[in-house]
Amino acid sequence: MATSAMISTLMAMLCLSITHGLNEIPIPNDLALKLNQNQEIISQASTDYGHIIQESPIAVLQPSSISDIANLINYSNSLTNPFTISARGKAHSVLGQAMARNGIVVNMTNLNGFRKRSGIVVSDGKSPLGCYVDVGGEQLWIDVVHATLKRGLTPLSLTDYLYLTVGGTLSNAGIGGQSFRFGPLVSNVLELDVVTGVGELVTCSSSINSDIFYAVLGGLVKKL
Ligand SMILES: Cc1cc2nc3c(=O)[nH]c(=O)nc-3n(C[C@H](O)[C@H](O)[C@H](O)COP(=O)(O)OP(=O)(O)OC[C@H]3O[C@@H](n4cnc5c(N)ncnc54)[C@H](O)[C@@H]3O)c2cc1C
Repeated sequence: MATSAMISTLMAMLCLSITHGLNEIPIPNDLALKLNQNQEIISQASTDYGHIIQESPIAVLQPSSISDIANLINYSNSLTNPFTISARGKAHSVLGQAMARNGIVVNMTNLNGFRKRSGIVVSDGKSPLGCYVDVGGEQLWIDVVHATLKRGLTPLSLTDYLYLTVGGTLSNAGIGGQSFRFGPLVSNVLELDVVTGVGELVTCSSSINSDIFYAVLGGLVKKL
């Protein structure tokens, strides 16, 4: 049995711009502590599923909260030349879409270990919105399916391959065997929490901050 899926997902709409050194204004300590410059971590963040593009970031942010991402964006925006920031889910992109040359890659999956409650909350169906699932953007679809199946439910629309993140797929469109009937994933989202390019956390839907909602869903700009 299927249910309507409210995918309230954390999306980070991040700024893209020319990179310069990070030393112009000292990095706040709490942010610096979460920036990883380990060569192996940098190397992993420099490639993706396609193995066509290779672009090295200066560091990888291991966020433990949404504020960490907002702080990174605010720090970048405080510089004369903000650096490139890119969110990274499972890096199943094929043309470097989750890379940040000389910038900072945000390892979104790191958030999973720091949520105050589960990153996947299935509604009890008593809300006027009916059944939905509230999901962190870093979550994998396979885990969303496992959580909803415990209640005999699944999202209406899914990707065929489920080891992808919610945020990464909603940046594209997300298609699978059910799309012919229920539309792509992006057509089944009720609400999003978005960290914008000016470092604000904004809740948006088709009726609230709808310009942001529609800009984020399927809003990936392909880098060529
Ligand atoms: C083996 C394989 C099978 C696939 N199967 C399907 C399929 O069945 N259906 C389908 O539609 N697609 C499929 N795809 C394509 C897939 O949906 C996209 O490549 C998707 O972007 C992968 O998700 P990801 O978590 O790996 O995202 P990433 O590659 O990590 O990121 C993709 C984009 O999303 C951004 N992003 C990632 N997380 C967030 C976040 N939390 N907030 C904001 N932005 C974010 C990144 O910056 C990047 O621009 C498949 C790809 C592969 C390699």
